Amino acid sequence: MAMESVDLLIVGASELVTMAGGPRRGDRLKDPAAIPGGALAARQGRIVAVGPSDEVLAAVSTGPDTLVIDARGRAVIPGFVDPHTHLCFAGDRAEEFALRLGGATYQEIAARGGGILNTVRATRAASQAELEALGLERLDRLALSGTTTVEVKSGYGLSTADELKQLRAIRALDRRHPLTVVPTFMGAHEVPPEYRDRPGAYVDLLVEEMLPAVAAEPGLARFADVFCEQGVFSVADSRRILQRARELGFAVKVHADELSDLGGASLAAEVGAISAEHLLHASDEGLRRLAAAGTVAVCLPGTSFSLMNAPYARARRMVELGCTVALGSDFNPGSCPVYAMPFIITLACMHLKLDPSEALAAATINAAAAIGLEAEVGSLEVGKLADVVILSCTSHRHIPYHMGMGVVAQVVKQGRLIVDDGRLVRR
Ligand SMILES: [Zn+2]
Repeated sequence: MAMESVDLLIVGASELVTMAGGPRRGDRLKDPAAIPGGALAARQGRIVAVGPSDEVLAAVSTGPDTLVIDARGRAVIPGFVDPHTHLCFAGDRAEEFALRLGGATYQEIAARGGGILNTVRATRAASQAELEALGLERLDRLALSGTTTVEVKSGYGLSTADELKQLRAIRALDRRHPLTVVPTFMGAHEVPPEYRDRPGAYVDLLVEEMLPAVAAEPGLARFADVFCEQGVFSVADSRRILQRARELGFAVKVHADELSDLGGASLAAEVGAISAEHLLHASDEGLRRLAAAGTVAVCLPGTSFSLMNAPYARARRMVELGCTVALGSDFNPGSCPVYAMPFIITLACMHLKLDPSEALAAATINAAAAIGLEAEVGSLEVGKLADVVILSCTSHRHIPYHMGMGVVAQVVKQGRLIVDDGRLVRR
């Protein structure tokens, strides 16, 4: 058999968690498809061999330029996929966090001009270059936590020009940073202050001007998302926005049933959304419809944790009802300043009642399905991107157990080492 020359070889793993075999539901969610003592080889950023060490070593040849990583008896897993962030913004809301700790509610803070509109003001005032600089720094932090693919939403511009500016910054981040950055247009994140007394006119603007403008510029957005909630976008308005987005060629997502059971889950199923997010108050009927439609249920336990008085999504019930359950960070400056997917996995085990192996599947292959990239990332299989994390512990089941400690030792993105010994490798 001809030996295949490779430029990356990872050996010495206690276990190689492949998550092979596609997105998982039901009992399969528990199966990490781990290979004890496995090895992995890649060429030009893609995996060419994965399996027991002796088989991989027999199939590939190394040269002087091959990067050989000895995992030294620690676990090797797919890079985390974070399918839900609002990472592109200016400013911060640390003072609002302090107010909330002092007892102020999110609603009270919003009434004083804080909340999301605080971030909208700062983001509107920032240039595209400033947004890119801030975004690059945040992507570095994600990389240090083992995230290798991340979805990023717009939605702090809320005018055609400012949403385009944000999306251009997000597109530039994908080009400038090693991480894969997947852009989502979310002009329907909030009604901006200048439309407060005529929200219908903002829906018209979204449908008639903003969505077509985003669609006209290549690579600006893969998805369109709507915050379907009382006082934000009604089910009828959301349906109108999502249908227009689909006509223009976007796949769609819905922030659904976060604060009340408005029917957002059912709407997501009805419009064939790729994913529905939050779902804290989604009914069994809504969850059944998501399962039947194949819409991924994205749980964001960091938000419930950060808000302190919010319930957690009923992830166990979602699994029982046959939903594909994924985890995301919901990283944003207000309700969830959480970067690290390992911490999200801890919360998912403690508060969503997922088993450690289930939570990892939800944060890798199922998260990839939530952004339509399950054929490219989320598992370690031949042909996929060589996006790999070498942990600092011996089993993937230790990830949630080591609370708040860095469990990521090394990160490989498309075959290239970007984090080594817990530090960024500068290009
Ligand atoms: Zn969100």
